[in-house]
Amino acid sequence: FVPIALQNLLSTSSIPTLSSLPTILAHDKEDIKNGLEGCIGNTPLVRIRSLSEYLGCEVLAKAEFLNPGGSPKDRVALSIILKAEEEGRLRPFSGDKVFEGTVGSTGVSLAHICRARGYLAHICMPSDQSLEKSSLLLKLGAVVERVTPASIVDKNQFVNLAKARATELTNSPDTTARGFFADQFENEANWKTHFETTGPEIYRQCGKQLDAFVAGAGTGGTISGVVMYLKQYLPNLAAVLADPQGSGLLNKVKYGVMFNEMTEREGTRRRAQVDSIVEGIGINRVTANFEAGRTLIDDAVRVTDEEACLMARYLVEQDGLFVGSSSAVNCVAVIKFVKERGWQNSNKRIVTILCDSGSRHLSKFWAKIGDVGGKWDTTIDQILDVSAN
Ligand code: PMP
Repeated sequence: FVPIALQNLLSTSSIPTLSSLPTILAHDKEDIKNGLEGCIGNTPLVRIRSLSEYLGCEVLAKAEFLNPGGSPKDRVALSIILKAEEEGRLRPFSGDKVFEGTVGSTGVSLAHICRARGYLAHICMPSDQSLEKSSLLLKLGAVVERVTPASIVDKNQFVNLAKARATELTNSPDTTARGFFADQFENEANWKTHFETTGPEIYRQCGKQLDAFVAGAGTGGTISGVVMYLKQYLPNLAAVLADPQGSGLLNKVKYGVMFNEMTEREGTRRRAQVDSIVEGIGINRVTANFEAGRTLIDDAVRVTDEEACLMARYLVEQDGLFVGSSSAVNCVAVIKFVKERGWQNSNKRIVTILCDSGSRHLSKFWAKIGDVGGKWDTTIDQILDVSAN
């Protein structure tokens, strides 16, 4: 059997080279994505060669930065909106408005999907966030409201404000447009979409064989959904939280209690919350999405900013991978976890997530790292030395 496309090519003088055959054969089968929504998910699973060689394990990463909105939040935003449509809370192409309090990727994903389905996205964010974030949202046609940073108990805190704005619009006598609060932290459509898509994709892409899954948690939707799915079939899988400095989740996983990582502030006796430049993961409260899968998480690994920065640089130098801060945290956690378990040279398979690209982090995380230039001098031992000091 010789496929038609190939027969045609073979009968001409331009005989394809072996390496071009897969592209030619693919022409036999239609493969068309239906709009922006159709491009979400089914991201590749990539072997990170440098880390795999160093550890003698197979380190695989789900390349979520390849979603059209640049992160796994595309999956979440789409499922939140589709569920709201099914429940009649949003009507496509009606001008209804989707409200969210977010400083990160979820706003970008919502802005994309809202435009594709005829809604307006209204994003509330603290005014201390970089301008590049709000300008991207504005370019995507979202309304951006920057508010003075405030505590979660304050009614003007950005998440509370987004919720209030949604109710305000729905109750307004001047318009028929409805307001919908996406609520990524508490809306369980979040972990369910990872249970229904990310988890099964990983299981299939791995040929049903993996030994550990390592991921950070922001809302907790990714780790809960993926681990809940995988553990149905792989009860011995090690589920590991990668937690940046300052986050309280590590203590919740290890000791069952939520206490924040504190440090002595220099020159005072006051203990203060540890800050981090890592964005998107690390939190000091337990959300519904984290709680959903929390008891299935077996272990947690702390990662410092310094380690994450060196890892991001290392991945550029060795693999040409340009990642954001949470992806770098995940990769450091993979190394620390494998070493802690004594899994080196065991050929075990560890899966993690590359959440977003470094290009979303130019003004903060990558500004601290600087230019890589023509160097190949970062080593894993150096990354681990930083933690030892
Ligand atoms: N990385 C980045 C860059 C993110 O924006 C987020 C989401 N806040 C995460 C990781 C964590 O995902 P989740 O909310 O599913 O825990």
